[in-house]
Amino acid sequence: MRIGNRRILIIGAGIGGSAAALALRRAGLEAELYEARSRKGTQYGGCYVLWYAGVLSLARLGLAEKAYACGHQLARLEMCDTRGRVFNSVDMETRGRSLGAVPIAIRRADLLNILYDELGPDGLALNSTFRGMSEDSRGVTATFTDGRTERGAILVGADGLDSRVRAHLHGLEPARYPGYAHWSGIAETDAGAPARLFRILHGNGARFAFFHLGGGRVCWWCVRNAAMTFNLGQGAGTSLTDAVTLADHLAGSIGAISAIRAYERARRSVTLPLMVASRRVGESASWGGLLGPALNAAVLRRIGPKVTGPLLELDARSHAGLSH
Ligand SMILES: Cc1cc2nc3c(=O)[nH]c(=O)nc-3n(C[C@H](O)[C@H](O)[C@H](O)COP(=O)(O)OP(=O)(O)OC[C@H]3O[C@@H](n4cnc5c(N)ncnc54)[C@H](O)[C@@H]3O)c2cc1C
Repeated sequence: MRIGNRRILIIGAGIGGSAAALALRRAGLEAELYEARSRKGTQYGGCYVLWYAGVLSLARLGLAEKAYACGHQLARLEMCDTRGRVFNSVDMETRGRSLGAVPIAIRRADLLNILYDELGPDGLALNSTFRGMSEDSRGVTATFTDGRTERGAILVGADGLDSRVRAHLHGLEPARYPGYAHWSGIAETDAGAPARLFRILHGNGARFAFFHLGGGRVCWWCVRNAAMTFNLGQGAGTSLTDAVTLADHLAGSIGAISAIRAYERARRSVTLPLMVASRRVGESASWGGLLGPALNAAVLRRIGPKVTGPLLELDARSHAGLSH
């Protein structure tokens, strides 16, 4: 199947879908973006730390400076034990400068609004809830809940955790509760929080973290008994890199299927190790009881300095393999 000048349909205008629409359009392809919500502006969601790869991907879209302007550049990650002693630290600034992107703390709403501004007033179709799709040898037809249909060469599912696109392809699989509780918030004060520092305090089966957000605010989160996959803070960053990588593969190819397979191989080689490592970090951080926190700190003190930095840089290195 050829892509040629035929349309690419993207379902879901979150971080991943919006970045994919921009990247594909910049690569000269026709990309249509469909979003279930009725309004573009959003205040929902907490904060992200966008690591090197996420910022490099934003730079590819020409948006890194805008993100730096409404977020806060982070210089150091410190992990502390129950007594506040630092047992692992990452120099984010020095590594960031050598990789070409210093990590940034940013509100989800601000990042999304940067992408929406760039897409322009007619850049996405609101009130468009994807219902199902059918495929044939020439492409795909998407159906929406209001009865509308749209035809394209390729359909990209970027419709989040409860993805209907994924359910259509792989069947409905209910989300599994991994047994953790998560709280987060934004404090409208930065009193007592050192600027440019991302600090994670490892407690008894729980973690508390905070970092500056710029504009006199501090973002904090707390996780109890978590083995969840945000432990390396890669969700938004990998969506951005997925987007620019997809555009690279589709732009340079005449065969849709071979381009998508190549994209899958490229992303899987990075995201799979990240997911596995993230799960392990969550498991050891959830060790409680008398010995759990000390054991976790001992493990992280021993292997943390060797693995934390390389893991956080893993996806940034995939940028070197991109076509431009
Ligand atoms: C409201 C919200 C708040 C979040 N807050 C945080 C946070 O504070 N910290 C953090 O680390 N991560 C947060 N996340 C998750 C994080 O944004 C994602 O892991 C990451 O950015 C990947 O984004 P995505 O674009 O793949 O999916 P999402 O950001 O989940 O976006 C999916 C989009 O698809 C749309 N959609 C869903 N179903 C349909 C449908 N049938 N038809 C059309 N459109 C559809 C949704 O309305 C949404 O806009 C949040 C996600 C959401 C939706």
